[in-house]
Amino acid sequence: VLLEAYRKKRNFQKTSEPEGKVIQAKKNLIFVVQEHHATHLHYDFRLSIGGVLKSWAVPKGPSFNPKEKRLAVLTEDHPLEYAAFEGEIPAGEYGAGKVIIWDHGTWEPKKDPNKAFQEGKIHFVLHGKKLTGEWVLLRFKDQEKNWLLFKL
Ligand code: MN
Repeated sequence: VLLEAYRKKRNFQKTSEPEGKVIQAKKNLIFVVQEHHATHLHYDFRLSIGGVLKSWAVPKGPSFNPKEKRLAVLTEDHPLEYAAFEGEIPAGEYGAGKVIIWDHGTWEPKKDPNKAFQEGKIHFVLHGKKLTGEWVLLRFKDQEKNWLLFKL
């Protein structure tokens, strides 16, 4: 079930994060990168695919240097509305700490995004304020959660 893992981890009486509806993708696919001051600072990189935000936690954040490939750990799908979320997740709640939108915009897949995700190689163009140009998310062989994010 879409977003089940996301909802199970959160108490929406306590956190101001959105509960989330599954919305079918509109014309422009959105992306967001959220700076998340949790136990360890990381950057959540999210691409809208199949009506949700596919999400990766990138400990060091995206690099503008094509030679620096950054570890990106797949996390649970988030609702599309999450792309607008900024705020403080309360202490004791999942992901407690401040969330700031670091960059956002639209993205263009080079091929069918659902298929690319399943195959573990997503080649795409970002139209953000900080992030532009061609990027790749590449899943490690025989792994589910560990991917690399890099600029071409
Ligand atoms: Mn996070």
